[in-house]
Amino acid sequence: MRMQKNDVIVCRLKRLPRNMLVEAARTATAINPLNHPRMDQLAGLMRGFRASPRRIAVMTTSYWGSAGVKLSVGFLDTPPADLRKRILLHMNAWNRNANIRFVPGNTDPQVRISRVGGKDGGYWSYVGTEILHIPKGEATMNLEEFTMETPESEFHRVVRHEAGHTLGFPHEHMRRALVNKIDRRKAIAYFQRMDGWTGQETIDQVLTPIEEAAIRGTLADPKSIMCYQIPGEITKDGKPIAGGLDIDESDYQFAGQIYPKKAAVKRKP
Ligand SMILES: [Zn+2]
Repeated sequence: MRMQKNDVIVCRLKRLPRNMLVEAARTATAINPLNHPRMDQLAGLMRGFRASPRRIAVMTTSYWGSAGVKLSVGFLDTPPADLRKRILLHMNAWNRNANIRFVPGNTDPQVRISRVGGKDGGYWSYVGTEILHIPKGEATMNLEEFTMETPESEFHRVVRHEAGHTLGFPHEHMRRALVNKIDRRKAIAYFQRMDGWTGQETIDQVLTPIEEAAIRGTLADPKSIMCYQIPGEITKDGKPIAGGLDIDESDYQFAGQIYPKKAAVKRKP
């Protein structure tokens, strides 16, 4: 068992390869027009902004439609029924005040969970509508070595976090105190190697604390379950940052805003 106190496995956000970004942005906008970034705002925020298709694609979010989320979930290996049920239960924790349902599905499930280690191991998920671009038979989420023996707290911290990505939620920015624990040079090299990010992307996404990020209109919640999780290899003291431990009130509120429970009813004339 690799779960030890100083061996917290942290999420590594999976993004589609860059050559698929434009196509994925098209899908995201077709499913939810609000995913398309506001060009007038971007031009105001970023000096010299040029609206190239690639640039727009990077800024496009991948939320599902406001009518709500109902996704079928399958497993690429054969976990016991009680484990499948338990994973589904924690994914569905998001539906407390949001129109979100993850249902078991055996034929062509939209969410496909693997539990592999090695090169594709760890905990990760593709984000929102991006999962539609993953070839059938390949995982959209990985929960390495999850079993019925995995502590309940890990189901809260990990399964709910990865389900959040599947719902389209990216990582939250961090508090300054946590950002200060990160070795900037190592972080830039790490995200370049793992995700192909430029130095500026890593600065914007990981090294900018919430109080500055909030000025730009980013939701700021340091206790969010979607708070960044940082591996020990890029922190100054070598210890990983585990992030939020469970869905908190502002996460629930945000999910309820994006996927309101009564949207379908309200829209009727
Ligand atoms: Zn994550």
